[in-house]
Formats: sequence, C-alpha cells, structure tokens
Amino acid sequence: EVHRKLVVGNWKMNGNLNQLGEIAAIAAAAKEAAGVDVAICPPFTLIAAAVARSGGLPIGGQDVHSAESGAHTGNVSAPMLQEVHARLVIVGHSERRAEQHETDAEVRAKAETALRHGLQTIVCVGESEMDRAARDHVAVVTAQLEGSLPDQAHDGELVVAYEPIWAIGTGNVATPEDIAEMHAAIRAALVERLGEFGERIRILYGGSVKADNAAAIFAVPHVDGALVGGASLTADQFVPIIEAAA
Ligand code: PEP
Repeated sequence: EVHRKLVVGNWKMNGNLNQLGEIAAIAAAAKEAAGVDVAICPPFTLIAAAVARSGGLPIGGQDVHSAESGAHTGNVSAPMLQEVHARLVIVGHSERRAEQHETDAEVRAKAETALRHGLQTIVCVGESEMDRAARDHVAVVTAQLEGSLPDQAHDGELVVAYEPIWAIGTGNVATPEDIAEMHAAIRAALVERLGEFGERIRILYGGSVKADNAAAIFAVPHVDGALVGGASLTADQFVPIIEAAA
C-alpha cells in the first residue's frame, strides 16, 4: 500500500515568537506541495500563536499527559491541546523516554488518550547504539512498539516514527538498508497486531533527515514520511525536505 507522505517538524525546546515567520513560510510552501502532508510541533507555549500564523498547516504538541486534568504539575492534557486547535501530538520521543523516564506503558496510555481526543498521534520508537551493536535492534524496537501501541489503534489516526537514538541530532543518518530492514519489521509487527489496518498506518523515519538525504530516505520501502528535528527550524532547511517528499 502506498501512502501519502507525512513530514513533521519537531522543534523540541527551540523557537520563540519571533521565529513564527518560519512556520508561515513553511505553511506557504506546504500548500504548493499538494501531495504531501506537513505539520509542525513547536513548544507548547507557541502552539496558539503558531496556529494563528499557520494558514491551516496542522500544528501539534510534543507530548501529552494520559489524564484529562488534575494534579500533574507542569503537564498538558489532550483537551488543552484541542482547545488551542492542535491537531497532532508526538508521544514517546526518545528524549522523553530518556530524560523523563517514560516507559512503554506510559507512552501507550498517552497515545490512547490522544487518539480518544481526536489528535493524530505519532508514537516514537528506536534503538540505542548498544542495541544495534548487539544486533538486538529489531527485537528491541518491535518490543517497544508492542508495548507502546494503543489498543484502540483504529480510532483516529495513529502514526509510528522509527527514530534510532544514535541518529537523532548527530548527523549520523541510518543507511537506506538499515531503514528498510526496520521499517519492514515494523510494518510486519503492525499487521500482526492490527490485521489489514496495520497496512494503513504511516511509518516515519527520523534521525538527521536533511535536504541532501531526504530523497534517498523517502525512496526506501515502507518509509511514509519523516520526523525532522534540527532541519525543521527554518523554512530554508525544511522546505526542500517537503519538496523531496512530493
Ligand atoms: C527528532 O528529534 O525527532 C529528530 C529526528 O531530530 P534530528 O532531525 O535533529 O535528528
């Protein structure tokens, strides 16, 4: 099954109000790239202002709590994201799994809440350099996926992002062969778990995607788009990646 490609920018803890012009420029370019879905996930504080500047380009969060409200100081809920017209959310990014010690079970609970609230939900998985050196990478990632996938995967739009930790923010992009192996394994695991519906879930690659490697990555089987960190911060760098997906 061939999917429309999805290219998502993850601004991480970067950006400020003065940089929202980049989102406006990205949105204008995304409109021209008719065959590609594009979205940006800025920090929470910028979501409302980004929505106002985005001309319909979907804006999302980089995390969400699994509860709807309550005593969870510092967290943001799915209804809060909805209220400011966020349309998607990233859950289980490796930086949160590392820094906030998020487990598969927590990621799964977040994904379930996000889907229930109609947010397109990007569940991230990826192995460490050690896992790969030990040749455990496929087993590690498929186990992570199994633990992180929501039960109600059919409700709303679930997306999986494969992001090898050693490739994030390092400039060390995975080879097309590495990506092909893992995306095929993820596709097989999705089909095993969800049946035919598993064919419909888009699988993004993330990890040092740039203008000069994007086309080769998008050509790999079962790569249905990209999750882009550093190169999503400016239109100059991000627009060529969108165009490579078109
Ligand atoms: C990411 O954090 O999702 C990511 C892929 O970062 P970068 O593109 O900077 O490697």
